[in-house]
Amino acid sequence: MGLKGGYTKRLLDVDLSDESVRVRELSDDLLLKFIGGRGLGAKFVWDFFREKINRVPARREVFREEALKPDNIILIAPGPLTGLYFPAAGKTSMSSISPATGIYADSNFGGMFGVELKQAGYDALLIRGAARRLKYIFVNDDEVRFIDASSLRGKGCVETERAVKKDIGDEEVRVACIGPAGENKVRFACVNSEWGRNAGRTGMGAVFGAKNLKAIAVRGSKDLAVHDIDRLLRVAERAFEYLQNHFLFDLWQEQGLMSVVDYLNTVGVLPSFNFRAGVFRNAERINGEEMVRRFKIGNTSCFACPMACGNICLVKEGRFRGTVVEGPEYETTCMFSSNMGVDDFSFVVRANYLCDELGMDTISTGNIIAALIEAQEKSIITEEDVGFSIKWGEKDKVLSLIEMIARRRGIGDVLAEGSFGIIRKWKHMESVISHVKYLEQSAYDAHASECMALAYGTCDIGAHHNRAWPIAKELEVGQKWGIHEKVDIVLYHQAVRPLFDMLGVCRLPWIELGLPEKYYADAFSATTGVETSIEELLFRSNAVYNLTRAVAVLLGIRKNDDYPPKKVFEEPLQNGPNAGKRISKERYEKMLLTYYEKRGWDENGIPRKETLEKFGLNDVAEVIERCIGSSHSAESCGESCDKKQNAVHGNSC
Ligand code: SF4
Repeated sequence: MGLKGGYTKRLLDVDLSDESVRVRELSDDLLLKFIGGRGLGAKFVWDFFREKINRVPARREVFREEALKPDNIILIAPGPLTGLYFPAAGKTSMSSISPATGIYADSNFGGMFGVELKQAGYDALLIRGAARRLKYIFVNDDEVRFIDASSLRGKGCVETERAVKKDIGDEEVRVACIGPAGENKVRFACVNSEWGRNAGRTGMGAVFGAKNLKAIAVRGSKDLAVHDIDRLLRVAERAFEYLQNHFLFDLWQEQGLMSVVDYLNTVGVLPSFNFRAGVFRNAERINGEEMVRRFKIGNTSCFACPMACGNICLVKEGRFRGTVVEGPEYETTCMFSSNMGVDDFSFVVRANYLCDELGMDTISTGNIIAALIEAQEKSIITEEDVGFSIKWGEKDKVLSLIEMIARRRGIGDVLAEGSFGIIRKWKHMESVISHVKYLEQSAYDAHASECMALAYGTCDIGAHHNRAWPIAKELEVGQKWGIHEKVDIVLYHQAVRPLFDMLGVCRLPWIELGLPEKYYADAFSATTGVETSIEELLFRSNAVYNLTRAVAVLLGIRKNDDYPPKKVFEEPLQNGPNAGKRISKERYEKMLLTYYEKRGWDENGIPRKETLEKFGLNDVAEVIERCIGSSHSAESCGESCDKKQNAVHGNSC
């Protein structure tokens, strides 16, 4: 059955090198197989990657550099529900090869940008090539302009967005842009939209910077097609009603994700002092109540979202007085307070503002600075290495480091290379940086949660919680679960959460207020005219997970790379209800092998041929067969795997 709504079936293909523009038709088959934002992103990155490995060695360190070359692509795609009347339907994905990790990556952001892109008539915007000078792109329905952005060089994200709107003469134009960090190709630079909605993780801002692309502005005036509008309205009304009647709805509007601070501190997994403690002594100075009482001046929301989790905070007194930011949300708060030994929320607001303005991911930035502090404390690196001494709670030095990283000054030039570059320069930093696949860990401690450890270890983009967040469930009811139950919940999360990124909706109504999955399947069916079930959608989500895994294994990722940060095995948690806890490596190993088995991957984490074929990824199976071979086994893998693979196959994949 053909698609009758939800998609425009058009992709805007833009080449910055020669400023050419092409509109490409997208087939129903493609749009149903690789649904929306993350699905299309994975497919286009796969096509780029498959062609690329014929020319360069398939190794992640090579692709980490290739990510910053002109021919890397970035696909910006909302989903079939984006822009429609359905709760929180304002999400958009950016997909590319990550300059931080060298493997497939995507990052998701909210606001209105994706809605406007669809209204301009496109399901996705594909950007390739690099401009000779700094430019911004303006997509105005069918017209695309490449506009000189030299005057914006070095400008922050807020200033850039303002300037672009003024230049175009339209306050309603939607802008996604980078700050100095992106221009300087900081490996964890983000793309910022609407002054606080960031595609934060995995360095999409550096890909923009490498392309000399300062910003994209979009304006659209077209209607969006919906197959059965009455049915969609009925489903949406029920979903809105469900959310508004939920007992946590008011708290959510009041605090947003900041309510998590108290919860995690109480259950003892609030990352503190660089993921070594799970309880922060002065949590009441950095929690949601403190934010509401002393800082919050308003709410903001993404498109069609009643939860409106965006807090607008203003520092009203003290040395950071006058700083205003959209945020901070929980991750930023943890990274710049408990995990850095700081109990001052006004400092968090300031650090958040700086990161947003300079255009850097707050998780990676905070994580790396905390690791630097611990490294100095343990004499892993010296004052001479850094250029100055830095200790827990030294706020001014942290703020200076944020600037130094964004502008690649002094030690900032090393830190701007992210975990991969830092560990390559100082091998012993491996013991203090919490990362998986060189993506810095987000703000949930995994010492007391085997599920969370597995979620980080097997996340396809690195140590990010966006694919699976099973920690709360496990701590509340799952401590005694067996291995199969724990693996099952991780697998379920890794199917359902990325599905939201495919559909173009926010996962928070589901994860925080438990909006039932059936609403999403109903809304998809009503919109597209293709009757589907949640099971079918989860199947499609799992297909994409296998596709992104295929990119990883072709780049040499194996079982060795699927472990959580070393600390969760080697350093017991220091305080609170989980004091002394750590993950047993032996038990993790069993969980990992069970996980592979349930996924249909071999003992090294390589998707089996029949698994890929089950998902209709026959071409992917062929490439894996050709490049890695069916005889690939545990014995032939491990440390030497990449070398062997490339020695045998060279550039011939
Ligand atoms: S819950 Fe928050 S992040 Fe999600 S769509 Fe609503 S406002 Fe945006």
